[in-house]
Amino acid sequence: MRRAVLILTVCLISISPATAAIDVVFDYYYDDNANGFFDTSTADGLAARDRMDDVASYYEGILNDTLLAITPSGVNTWTPQFSNPATGLPISGEIDMNVAADTLIVYAGGRDMGALGQGGAGGYSAVGTAAWLDLVASRGENPITDFGPWGGSVSFNTNLPTDYSWNFSANDPESDEYDFLSVAIHEMGHVLGIGGATPWQNYISGSDFTGPAARAEYGDDVPLNDNAHWKEGTKSEVDGVDQEAAMDPTIANGKRKYFTDLDEAGLSDIGWEIVPEPATLCLLVGGGIGLLLKQQRRRKTA
Ligand SMILES: [Zn+2]
Repeated sequence: MRRAVLILTVCLISISPATAAIDVVFDYYYDDNANGFFDTSTADGLAARDRMDDVASYYEGILNDTLLAITPSGVNTWTPQFSNPATGLPISGEIDMNVAADTLIVYAGGRDMGALGQGGAGGYSAVGTAAWLDLVASRGENPITDFGPWGGSVSFNTNLPTDYSWNFSANDPESDEYDFLSVAIHEMGHVLGIGGATPWQNYISGSDFTGPAARAEYGDDVPLNDNAHWKEGTKSEVDGVDQEAAMDPTIANGKRKYFTDLDEAGLSDIGWEIVPEPATLCLLVGGGIGLLLKQQRRRKTA
């Protein structure tokens, strides 16, 4: 029998449409038992969950991968490990959790942190046959080129700076608000492997990302920030409209950011099968892209 341990964390330092295959399941268990950022007895908590549903729908609309189920039995056992979204500390999840085929399980919560949010793919411990360890590691995908996680966790700041609040609505944020939808889109990008997955790491050369899809989109190697984000201020497009990339390190108050063509290219480079379907993109594009306001106070999205 073999044993494998893999811990994937990102940013801990700071804080086809109808036929698309992937199901993103957000789990609020750890939040329900702690800080209640997603508390369903509050209007904010309900609205935050609605935006998380929007985020799930967006990614479900562009990810067309096939991921094997994780079904422990007999000698084949495992335990998911991840950053507890309510504390930021490493935690072991449910022993021998079942993960359905084509499903990602993402624990979500809130806590006081030094950034707007944090996200990362989960790791695991596993014991069993070689085939089982391969399955837990990459769910039938090539572990070197094609990221296939069970899921991970995302967390959001419960204690924004004085005079600022979250915009939990589907509409664009006001100037004294940080946009929750935008930050959730960003943190989910980390869960999918941007910044942390092995295929991502394999494309880092110096301080650039050299994945072919991202290179084609950007026109050159893409400069990175801390190897986990595009360089601050990197531009791309959403539906033909210029926008700062979702996966650069910060977002300004009063600003909404959607997942750009470059962000999607990054996912493509680490193995995700991206469905470029305008009808699904519209879900998140309809709100319009505002111009950067002056005197923004940019904050890290981690
Ligand atoms: Zn980030």
